[in-house]
Amino acid sequence: MSGLTLLLIIPVFLLIAVFVDMVHTGSETQSLAIQSDVTFYTAKDIEDNIPILTEKILQKATNNVVETGNPLDDSSDYIKNDLQEGISQLSQKYQNSEHINVTCKIWSVNPTQDPFKIEVNSTVYVQKGNIAHKEHISQNISIMDSNYPVQDPLPFIKCKNYGKMANTSTKILYGSSLASLLKAKHLKNANVYENATSPLFIKKCPYDPYIGHGNPPYFVVLKNCIDTGYFHESSDGSCFLCRLEGKVTCPHYGFETFIAPSNSSNSTLMFAPCSSEHVIFDDHVYSGKGIVYYLDKSNYLKLFLDNGHRQKYGLPKY
Ligand SMILES: [Zn+2]
Ligand SMILES: [Zn+2]
Repeated sequence: MSGLTLLLIIPVFLLIAVFVDMVHTGSETQSLAIQSDVTFYTAKDIEDNIPILTEKILQKATNNVVETGNPLDDSSDYIKNDLQEGISQLSQKYQNSEHINVTCKIWSVNPTQDPFKIEVNSTVYVQKGNIAHKEHISQNISIMDSNYPVQDPLPFIKCKNYGKMANTSTKILYGSSLASLLKAKHLKNANVYENATSPLFIKKCPYDPYIGHGNPPYFVVLKNCIDTGYFHESSDGSCFLCRLEGKVTCPHYGFETFIAPSNSSNSTLMFAPCSSEHVIFDDHVYSGKGIVYYLDKSNYLKLFLDNGHRQKYGLPKY
């Protein structure tokens, strides 16, 4: 080989070396991209599972309170602990099947500005090889998912020991329990609540603004609201987490509903305990004047409402 040929060959070797190195780097980058995809999608999967797990846990915890009539001591803590257990089991599955290191810490479960949602705060950490993905997540989770409907636990806590109640339809059927509770408090006309009903599952009233409940003709919106069984946003009624603890009022923004007396053949409009549940279950029950919202032959459907609630729902004051 002549000196000139050698001089020409050297750059060719150098070029090949650079090219090989480039290919090598390229494949490494590609593998890093796959790994970061895996960590990203695993974190996303954990994140997507938090609301579903929360809803399941909330439903189960509520069913238990409804069944026993026993309130939870600390509902946020209870749900947080159950959620931590569920999400840790899910993380472990990743560890076992895909050798991905996954941890998820549930920090807190709180009420939110929207009383039909609860907030869950967590941190997800996913690591595979030399790629790690860490994310702080705050999720507002609905308590109205039709896949996991939750019952209103408060009446079952409050009426425990006062008689049988049924939760076999879309309504709570109080039987004699509520009337007995009110009689035990020596309240006047407590008997109007014999066989009263209220909504069983938490559903937000779509008739917003609420003042339209009193729109003419008659009270057709109010009747639809009561028949379907809706709850209304309220700063007086307790939030869902506090309901699980048996609290009638709380510092959080909450909701309220009507407890409807059964139909009556008596048209007389007297005063009776106020048909708003946060009033009826409170230690200091005040009364409201009867309002007939539906009349069928000699069957009168009435609520008993104070002027404050009448104003909120656009009903005539007395
Ligand atoms: Zn309504
Ligand atoms: Zn609360």
